[in-house]
Amino acid sequence: MLKGVFISLSQNQLLTTAAKKYGLKLGAQTVVAGTTVEETINSIRKLNALGISATVDNLGEYSIEREEALEAKASILEVIESIHTNGVDAHISLKPTQLGLDIDYDFCYENLLEIVAAASKYNMHINIDMEDYDHLQPSFDLMDDLLKEYDNVGTVIQAYFDRAQDDLEKYKDLRMRIVKGAYKEPIEYAFQTKEDIDENFIKLIEYHLLHGKFTSIATHDHRIIDQVKKFVKENNIPNDKFEFQMLYGFRKDMQVDLAKQGYNFCTYVPFGDDWYAYFMRRLAERPQNLNLVVKQVFNKRTNTAIGVLAGALALKTLVNKKKK
Ligand SMILES: Cc1cc2nc3c(=O)[nH]c(=O)nc-3n(C[C@H](O)[C@H](O)[C@H](O)COP(=O)(O)OP(=O)(O)OC[C@H]3O[C@@H](n4cnc5c(N)ncnc54)[C@H](O)[C@@H]3O)c2cc1C
Repeated sequence: MLKGVFISLSQNQLLTTAAKKYGLKLGAQTVVAGTTVEETINSIRKLNALGISATVDNLGEYSIEREEALEAKASILEVIESIHTNGVDAHISLKPTQLGLDIDYDFCYENLLEIVAAASKYNMHINIDMEDYDHLQPSFDLMDDLLKEYDNVGTVIQAYFDRAQDDLEKYKDLRMRIVKGAYKEPIEYAFQTKEDIDENFIKLIEYHLLHGKFTSIATHDHRIIDQVKKFVKENNIPNDKFEFQMLYGFRKDMQVDLAKQGYNFCTYVPFGDDWYAYFMRRLAERPQNLNLVVKQVFNKRTNTAIGVLAGALALKTLVNKKKK
């Protein structure tokens, strides 16, 4: 139930606007690498020094105006140039709805094409992040269209979808990220229990490790990571066929440990001020993640308006649900 509350909070426009204004003061910098490209490049440098590469996400999603989508595109193009100029080890993750998928498919495709073309000059990978179910097939369509022109593109398979295995088989020749899935999806097409999702997650990872081009295993779940380590050893899968991925700021010690153990490790590095929906999804996954931000808020004794407002809204949503 809590997951649904946080997901609906993540879509609240008022809170998104407030969070943009006050967010970094409130401690969001623990999970956001910076607001500017320069700060982000510095954060990536620090990760690289620890033997960790980065996939950079220009925060934001669900653009409703063309202007927003074009600004996002310009920002991503700037990051691509900066990654190249500064010689840091990083690539790009992007969200189709930020680049205009809800406005017009062709408009979004043109934006993505420009980004993929720019990255291709530097042999840089572009990962299309997967969003909710309504955008799943259109995102695969975008990738199919981009692959007609370029090959530096891959996407994400969300293990909670019952179609995930079919999608993965179709895209086995690509670099793919496999995740559990971050949105709240209905029983008609998504597994609901942790056991079912974890079981499918492992099945998909093992399939792609055996048959796929390159597998990014994106999870903070130490049990899954341990199983993967065992599986690659037993099946003689070389380290250059896969990597582990985690989000910036989460389980930092484990990120460094895995890199030290000789595994490829890539941190998902979000930047910008549009952090609110991203962070609410992290709370939906694991309410304890609030600790990351709460510590900062109280240490700095800054404005707690958003926290209070978010709490009030969560409470209201819960009360409404009980009434139904
Ligand atoms: C790099 C990356 C990219 C992603 N991209 C997408 C995407 O494109 N689309 C999408 O839908 N989702 C994406 N996700 C989110 C993903 O789908 C999951 O929602 C999210 O990762 C939570 O699941 P989990 O596997 O990390 O572990 P969970 O199921 O959240 O946790 C399992 C267990 O791991 C342990 N654990 C987890 N987190 C912590 C922690 N911080 N500290 C201590 N213990 C912990 C706990 O014991 C917990 O019970 C991405 C995730 C990552 C890491």
